[in-house]
Amino acid sequence: MAAAIFTRRLHPDTPVVVFDGARRVGAKILVSGGARCNVTNTIVTDADFWGGRRTIIRRVLRGFPVEKTVAFFQEIGVPLHEEPGGKLFPNSNSARDVLRALLDEASRVGVKIVTGARVEGVVAADGAFRVVMKDSTLDARRVVLATGGRSLPKSGSDGAGLEIARRLGHTIVPTTPALVPLLLDAAQNTMHKELTGVAHEAELTLWVDDAVEMRLTGSLLWTHFGISGPLALNMSRNWIRNPGARLTLNFLPGSTFDDVEKWWTASAQERPPAAVAKQLSTRVPASVADALLRRIGISGSTTLAHFPREDRRRLSHALVSWPLAVSGDRGYSYAEVTAGGVSLDEIDPSTMESRVCPGLFLVGEILDVDGRIGGFNFQWAWSSAHVAATALGA
Ligand SMILES: Cc1cc2nc3c(=O)[nH]c(=O)nc-3n(C[C@H](O)[C@H](O)[C@H](O)COP(=O)(O)OP(=O)(O)OC[C@H]3O[C@@H](n4cnc5c(N)ncnc54)[C@H](O)[C@@H]3O)c2cc1C
Repeated sequence: MAAAIFTRRLHPDTPVVVFDGARRVGAKILVSGGARCNVTNTIVTDADFWGGRRTIIRRVLRGFPVEKTVAFFQEIGVPLHEEPGGKLFPNSNSARDVLRALLDEASRVGVKIVTGARVEGVVAADGAFRVVMKDSTLDARRVVLATGGRSLPKSGSDGAGLEIARRLGHTIVPTTPALVPLLLDAAQNTMHKELTGVAHEAELTLWVDDAVEMRLTGSLLWTHFGISGPLALNMSRNWIRNPGARLTLNFLPGSTFDDVEKWWTASAQERPPAAVAKQLSTRVPASVADALLRRIGISGSTTLAHFPREDRRRLSHALVSWPLAVSGDRGYSYAEVTAGGVSLDEIDPSTMESRVCPGLFLVGEILDVDGRIGGFNFQWAWSSAHVAATALGA
């Protein structure tokens, strides 16, 4: 939809028709950011994304940077405000207002939107295209594929667009869910069930072949099935896309085993009669302290003065390197985005035009780009849409 709006704003003489298989467009805008729509972020760089080549992502982001996104939304009556982490939300805190403003703008600039029109195929012939729907076809000089990936399939983004792109000659980097909660194996001494609903700052380390592949910090949320919250969501695609990888949790982000040992020693000197659980709950939520101590068989009522060295070392180790028995993920139905997609190498980043099928443009989540939590995925959608729109008038 953004590509259509931008195209009409830039080239009012170019007729644009949007076909959407859903009965109502913009389902994901409505559910995004807890129904508040995290439209973008104050700072967006290629480092906020995974997927295809960084240089290509950077080029597209530069084509329509955050300042222009903010100005565009201001123009259509959606001023944004900043929240922690640089997240930008509409002042009204309503995703519905974002969608309404986009639809109003689409109507104002003359975009024709046909809903309930699922595209079954796009056929390229003689430098033009035939868009094939169930009961009708439409011939077009240029086609923009903006069908999203596979996440939240009930919204209409079920991967059909990837198949259309593949049939037009594109390489599809294998897809997986991303920004998705992870499941923990309850049979493996995990503590998620008793901690359901508890959130705290933490650090996750991804180990591949016993080497650190990635380390992320952020807020972790324990749930009845495993872990969620920004930290787990951001790490998810990396665990999923590295079969055999392990995840460990550091309850004290940034601290090493030696740091924690020093802290226990200093704590014992300052407050010898304090109980271990009580002292630990100055650093992590009390429920987490209790659950962890129980898991490793240490009595929380032991005083710091009588805390055996071996137990203290075991606890320090557990605090900075707690193994998480991840057994899977919650799948596309719970994933905010899709990792993988149409290979960026097959796109001209100055136009978003396909290098393998001239006249075809690809934008948004259908491409092999997935951003972290914080408004980055929408920024990718706005930037790529604008880059394509600029070229579409030529
Ligand atoms: C729960 C949730 C919360 C999110 N929150 C945020 C957030 O706060 N900030 C953020 O930056 N990102 C967020 N995202 C991610 C963001 O919504 C997506 O990255 C973004 O919507 C991708 O835009 P898109 O236009 O490429 O694809 P989509 O938004 O998926 O739109 C694709 C459209 O194509 C249509 N379509 C698909 N196949 C066909 C077909 N064959 N024929 C016709 N129509 C078709 C679909 O019906 C759909 O309307 C969230 C995602 C989810 C699921």
